[in-house]
Amino acid sequence: MSQARLMDGTVLARRVVEETAEQAAALTERTGTVPCLATVLVGEDPASVTYVRMKQNRCRKAGIDSRRVALPAGTTTEELVGTLRSLSEDPAVHGILLQHPVGDHIDERAAFEAIAPGKDVDGVTFASFATMSFGLPGFVSCTPGGILRLLDEYGVELGGRRAVVVGRSAILGKPVGMLLLARDATVTYCHSRTADLSSVVREADVVVAAVGRPRLIRGRDVKPGAVVIDAGYNPGNVGDVDFDSAVERASLITPVPGGVGPMTIATLLEQTVRAAARQLGV
Ligand code: NAP
Repeated sequence: MSQARLMDGTVLARRVVEETAEQAAALTERTGTVPCLATVLVGEDPASVTYVRMKQNRCRKAGIDSRRVALPAGTTTEELVGTLRSLSEDPAVHGILLQHPVGDHIDERAAFEAIAPGKDVDGVTFASFATMSFGLPGFVSCTPGGILRLLDEYGVELGGRRAVVVGRSAILGKPVGMLLLARDATVTYCHSRTADLSSVVREADVVVAAVGRPRLIRGRDVKPGAVVIDAGYNPGNVGDVDFDSAVERASLITPVPGGVGPMTIATLLEQTVRAAARQLGV
């Protein structure tokens, strides 16, 4: 069998960001208000600092203002909730991103729930999960949203096909499964307690790896012709899929880096401009 075609998230994300920049410029022209994303960072974890900086740089390129809120590592749940509530009430802020994970001493769920659903452009609140699951207008979790956009871009038929999602986290595995279900895929979730993971993955027409274990999914686990989405991002730029062997069996596959990652930020920017448009009533 020939090698899989690559699903190029870098190229697609660039196009989505360009389109978002046009929408942001039109919105600014029409309303006199520049869309604004507030990024909230607790502590100075180097990876989180880098992620926030990347998101701010992309905002700038897309004509979106970013307001950086940096809180000390010792911030309490109450203080963080207070900050997020005041950003939720601030009319100059249209979207809010709480960089996570936050420290173990903070109740992350309580913090997420302090974000107004209308500004939850990272799709982390209960309200966003519910609207996404019911197919109602709202904001989706950004990585799952980006994955669906990639699947659509490459014309992947989902209706009636078997999708296996490996991972069930609240921000990635669970919501991507719900989005696939909404598109009429037959969805199976796998997790750390799944017995015989390989045999379940081998049934899949579409595999989404969202685990955080380098090269967990090997080529021999992939059904010939399957579509393989690798959302994993492990130290050394390594995904959750063993790319070299999976590329020999799949029909389409995302590289790491350059697959799912860039789509996450593109979705965040797109949703920020959509949030601003709604709040500004246009
Ligand atoms: P997470 O919260 O740690 O969840 C990992 C999931 O994988 C859990 O559901 C866990 O099962 C499951 N799991 C762990 N070991 C397993 C095994 N051996 N077999 C089957 N399932 C196993 O991680 P996450 O936040 O969802 O992130 C997952 C990966 O995606 C990470 O590499 C992360 O860096 C990456 N990521 C990338 C982006 C992006 O923009 N590209 C965004 C977010 C995350 P249990 O539930 O049973 O514990």
